[in-house]
Amino acid sequence: MDDAFQVPSGTPQAPKPERGIACPRCGCCHLRTTHTEPLPSGRIRRRKVCRHCGRRMVTYELPPRLVGPDR
Ligand SMILES: [Zn+2]
Repeated sequence: MDDAFQVPSGTPQAPKPERGIACPRCGCCHLRTTHTEPLPSGRIRRRKVCRHCGRRMVTYELPPRLVGPDR
């Protein structure tokens, strides 16, 4: 199973898919997305910056259509 980085973005209770991502330095969840780039593999790479300490991080997300193979 490849459930490494699946986010439940199809549920109405989760408007933001990056709810489980926090800053590794200060632990806050106030991250600002500075760049979004779709990769050729189908994933979405997003660069985020912490609004508190300025720590930069990169996340790789899967679009909802590729997460569920059998619906
Ligand atoms: Zn931070």
